[in-house]
Amino acid sequence: MSLSRRDFLKLSGGTAVAGVIGASVSPNAAAADEEKEIRIKGAKVTNTICPYCSVGCGILVYTKDGKVVNAEGDPEHPTNEGTLCSKGASLYQIINNPLRLTKPKYRASGAREWKEVEWDWTLDEIAKKIKDTREKTFKVNSKSKVKEKQPDGKEVEVEKEFVVNRTDGIAHVGSAALDNEECYMLQKLLRSWGLVYIEHQARI
Ligand code: SF4
Repeated sequence: MSLSRRDFLKLSGGTAVAGVIGASVSPNAAAADEEKEIRIKGAKVTNTICPYCSVGCGILVYTKDGKVVNAEGDPEHPTNEGTLCSKGASLYQIINNPLRLTKPKYRASGAREWKEVEWDWTLDEIAKKIKDTREKTFKVNSKSKVKEKQPDGKEVEVEKEFVVNRTDGIAHVGSAALDNEECYMLQKLLRSWGLVYIEHQARI
Protein backbone atom coordinates (compact mmCIF):
# COMPACT_ATOMS: atom_id res chain seq x y z
CA MET A 1 0.00 0.00 0.00
CA SER A 2 1.43 3.43 -0.94
CA LEU A 3 0.87 6.42 1.37
CA SER A 4 0.97 10.04 0.24
CA ARG A 5 2.43 12.68 2.57
CA ARG A 6 -1.14 13.99 3.18
CA ASP A 7 -2.40 10.43 4.03
CA PHE A 8 0.50 9.93 6.39
CA LEU A 9 -0.22 13.20 8.27
CA LYS A 10 -3.95 12.34 8.49
CA LEU A 11 -3.18 8.88 9.83
CA SER A 12 -0.59 10.01 12.39
CA GLY A 13 -2.90 12.85 13.57
CA GLY A 14 -5.74 10.35 14.05
CA THR A 15 -3.46 8.01 15.97
CA ALA A 16 -2.32 10.84 18.24
CA VAL A 17 -5.96 11.78 19.03
CA ALA A 18 -6.78 8.12 19.75
CA GLY A 19 -3.73 7.97 22.05
CA VAL A 20 -4.88 11.04 23.99
CA ILE A 21 -8.40 9.63 24.38
CA GLY A 22 -6.98 6.23 25.45
CA ALA A 23 -4.65 7.88 27.97
CA SER A 24 -7.43 9.71 29.83
CA VAL A 25 -8.05 8.08 33.21
CA SER A 26 -11.49 6.51 33.69
CA PRO A 27 -13.35 7.31 36.96
CA ASN A 28 -13.27 3.58 37.85
CA ALA A 29 -9.48 3.42 37.49
CA ALA A 30 -9.05 6.57 39.59
CA ALA A 31 -11.30 5.14 42.33
CA ALA A 32 -9.36 1.86 42.27
CA ASP A 33 -6.06 3.76 42.62
CA GLU A 34 -7.44 5.72 45.54
CA GLU A 35 -8.74 2.56 47.22
CA LYS A 36 -5.31 0.93 46.81
CA GLU A 37 -3.54 3.97 48.30
CA ILE A 38 -5.77 3.75 51.39
CA ARG A 39 -5.23 -0.03 51.63
CA ILE A 40 -1.42 0.15 51.54
CA LYS A 41 -1.03 3.30 53.69
CA GLY A 42 1.32 2.48 56.58
CA ALA A 43 1.84 -1.11 55.36
CA LYS A 44 5.22 -2.85 55.55
CA VAL A 45 6.73 -3.54 52.11
CA THR A 46 8.71 -6.74 51.48
CA ASN A 47 10.50 -7.65 48.23
CA THR A 48 9.98 -11.14 46.92
CA ILE A 49 10.10 -13.18 43.71
CA CYS A 50 7.03 -14.59 41.98
CA PRO A 51 6.89 -18.34 42.69
CA TYR A 52 5.03 -19.33 39.52
CA CYS A 53 7.64 -19.52 36.77
CA SER A 54 11.31 -19.20 35.98
CA VAL A 55 10.97 -15.65 34.61
CA GLY A 56 11.37 -14.68 38.28
CA CYS A 57 9.54 -11.34 38.33
CA GLY A 58 10.09 -9.10 41.34
CA ILE A 59 7.05 -8.42 43.53
CA LEU A 60 6.37 -6.00 46.37
CA VAL A 61 4.21 -7.50 49.11
CA TYR A 62 2.44 -5.12 51.49
CA THR A 63 1.50 -6.38 54.96
CA LYS A 64 -0.46 -4.80 57.79
CA ASP A 65 -0.82 -6.46 61.21
CA GLY A 66 0.71 -9.66 59.78
CA LYS A 67 -1.82 -9.85 56.91
CA VAL A 68 -1.08 -9.41 53.20
CA VAL A 69 -3.08 -6.41 51.95
CA ASN A 70 -1.56 -5.97 48.50
CA ALA A 71 1.00 -7.41 46.06
CA GLU A 72 2.25 -5.72 42.89
CA GLY A 73 5.15 -5.72 40.43
CA ASP A 74 8.40 -4.21 41.68
CA PRO A 75 9.20 -1.21 39.43
CA GLU A 76 12.90 -1.48 40.31
CA HIS A 77 13.24 -5.16 39.41
CA PRO A 78 15.29 -5.54 36.19
CA THR A 79 13.20 -8.46 34.86
CA ASN A 80 9.66 -7.08 34.99
CA GLU A 81 10.11 -3.36 35.81
CA GLY A 82 6.81 -3.22 37.71
CA THR A 83 4.74 -5.37 35.35
CA LEU A 84 3.22 -8.77 36.14
CA CYS A 85 1.38 -11.33 34.04
CA SER A 86 -2.10 -12.39 35.16
CA LYS A 87 -0.71 -15.25 37.27
CA GLY A 88 1.73 -13.00 39.11
CA ALA A 89 -0.93 -10.32 39.54
CA SER A 90 -3.16 -12.85 41.32
CA LEU A 91 -0.41 -13.77 43.82
CA TYR A 92 -2.28 -11.87 46.53
CA GLN A 93 -4.98 -14.55 46.35
CA ILE A 94 -2.59 -17.36 47.34
CA ILE A 95 -2.78 -16.26 50.95
CA ASN A 96 -6.12 -14.44 51.02
CA ASN A 97 -8.13 -17.39 49.90
CA PRO A 98 -10.64 -19.39 51.96
CA LEU A 99 -9.96 -22.42 49.71
CA ARG A 100 -6.24 -22.45 50.49
CA LEU A 101 -5.03 -25.76 51.94
CA THR A 102 -2.89 -25.24 55.03
CA LYS A 103 -2.56 -28.90 56.05
CA PRO A 104 -1.79 -32.06 54.04
CA LYS A 105 -4.66 -34.26 52.91
CA TYR A 106 -4.35 -38.04 52.85
CA ARG A 107 -6.42 -40.71 51.12
CA ALA A 108 -5.50 -44.19 52.29
CA SER A 109 -5.26 -46.98 49.75
CA GLY A 110 -8.82 -48.13 48.92
CA ALA A 111 -10.47 -45.27 50.87
CA ARG A 112 -12.95 -42.92 49.16
CA GLU A 113 -12.46 -39.86 51.35
CA TRP A 114 -9.52 -37.53 51.85
CA LYS A 115 -8.77 -36.68 55.47
CA GLU A 116 -6.73 -33.85 56.95
CA VAL A 117 -3.52 -35.03 58.63
CA GLU A 118 -0.63 -33.46 60.56
CA TRP A 119 2.62 -32.42 58.89
CA ASP A 120 4.78 -34.53 61.27
CA TRP A 121 2.83 -37.69 60.44
CA THR A 122 2.96 -36.87 56.70
CA LEU A 123 6.72 -36.30 56.65
CA ASP A 124 7.34 -39.54 58.61
CA GLU A 125 5.13 -41.49 56.15
CA ILE A 126 6.90 -40.01 53.12
CA ALA A 127 10.32 -40.80 54.64
CA LYS A 128 9.24 -44.41 55.41
CA LYS A 129 7.90 -44.94 51.88
CA ILE A 130 11.03 -43.48 50.24
CA LYS A 131 13.29 -45.68 52.38
CA ASP A 132 11.25 -48.88 51.75
CA THR A 133 10.93 -48.25 47.99
CA ARG A 134 14.59 -47.35 47.61
CA GLU A 135 15.68 -50.51 49.46
CA LYS A 136 13.41 -52.69 47.30
CA THR A 137 14.35 -51.15 43.95
CA PHE A 138 17.96 -49.97 44.29
CA LYS A 139 20.26 -51.36 41.58
CA VAL A 140 24.03 -51.32 41.86
CA ASN A 141 24.62 -52.76 38.36
CA SER A 142 22.60 -52.78 35.17
CA LYS A 143 23.09 -54.39 31.76
CA SER A 144 23.00 -52.36 28.55
CA LYS A 145 23.69 -53.07 24.89
CA VAL A 146 26.64 -51.14 23.47
CA LYS A 147 28.48 -51.17 20.15
CA GLU A 148 32.02 -52.55 20.32
CA LYS A 149 34.71 -52.59 17.65
CA GLN A 150 36.12 -56.02 16.84
CA PRO A 151 39.81 -56.75 15.86
CA ASP A 152 38.64 -56.96 12.21
CA GLY A 153 37.26 -53.37 12.44
CA LYS A 154 33.58 -54.42 12.41
CA GLU A 155 31.17 -53.06 15.03
CA VAL A 156 29.01 -55.54 16.91
CA GLU A 157 26.39 -55.05 19.59
CA VAL A 158 27.35 -56.62 22.93
CA GLU A 159 25.71 -56.66 26.33
CA LYS A 160 27.78 -55.15 29.13
CA GLU A 161 27.24 -54.60 32.81
CA PHE A 162 27.73 -51.11 34.28
CA VAL A 163 27.73 -49.73 37.80
CA VAL A 164 24.62 -47.47 37.99
CA ASN A 165 23.73 -47.07 41.70
CA ARG A 166 20.17 -45.97 40.97
CA THR A 167 16.55 -46.56 41.81
CA ASP A 168 13.86 -46.74 39.13
CA GLY A 169 11.15 -47.02 41.77
CA ILE A 170 10.86 -43.34 42.75
CA ALA A 171 10.29 -40.23 40.63
CA HIS A 172 10.24 -36.58 41.60
CA VAL A 173 8.25 -33.72 40.07
CA GLY A 174 8.81 -30.01 40.78
CA SER A 175 9.21 -27.27 41.10
CA ALA A 176 9.00 -24.10 39.02
CA ALA A 177 8.47 -22.26 42.28
CA LEU A 178 11.98 -23.04 43.55
CA ASP A 179 14.94 -20.70 43.24
CA ASN A 180 18.46 -21.69 42.13
CA GLU A 181 19.75 -22.56 45.59
CA GLU A 182 16.69 -24.70 46.43
CA CYS A 183 16.99 -26.54 43.10
CA TYR A 184 20.69 -27.18 43.78
CA MET A 185 19.95 -28.67 47.22
CA LEU A 186 17.06 -30.74 45.85
CA GLN A 187 19.19 -32.17 43.03
CA LYS A 188 21.92 -33.12 45.54
CA LEU A 189 19.34 -34.88 47.74
CA LEU A 190 17.58 -36.72 44.91
CA ARG A 191 20.80 -37.81 43.19
CA SER A 192 22.17 -39.04 46.53
CA TRP A 193 19.13 -41.34 46.78
CA GLY A 194 19.89 -42.60 43.25
CA LEU A 195 16.87 -41.06 41.48
CA VAL A 196 17.06 -40.69 37.72
CA TYR A 197 13.46 -39.67 36.97
CA ILE A 198 13.56 -36.01 38.02
CA GLU A 199 11.05 -33.75 36.27
CA HIS A 200 9.85 -30.20 36.45
CA GLN A 201 6.18 -29.23 36.18
CA ALA A 202 6.85 -26.26 33.89
CA ARG A 203 7.73 -28.78 31.15
CA ILE A 204 4.66 -30.97 31.60
S1 SF4 B 1 4.60 -12.70 37.06
FE1 SF4 B 1 4.15 -14.17 35.44
S2 SF4 B 1 5.93 -14.10 34.08
FE2 SF4 B 1 6.54 -13.16 36.04
S3 SF4 B 1 7.44 -14.88 37.22
FE3 SF4 B 1 5.28 -14.72 37.78
S4 SF4 B 1 4.26 -16.17 36.41
FE4 SF4 B 1 6.27 -15.78 35.56
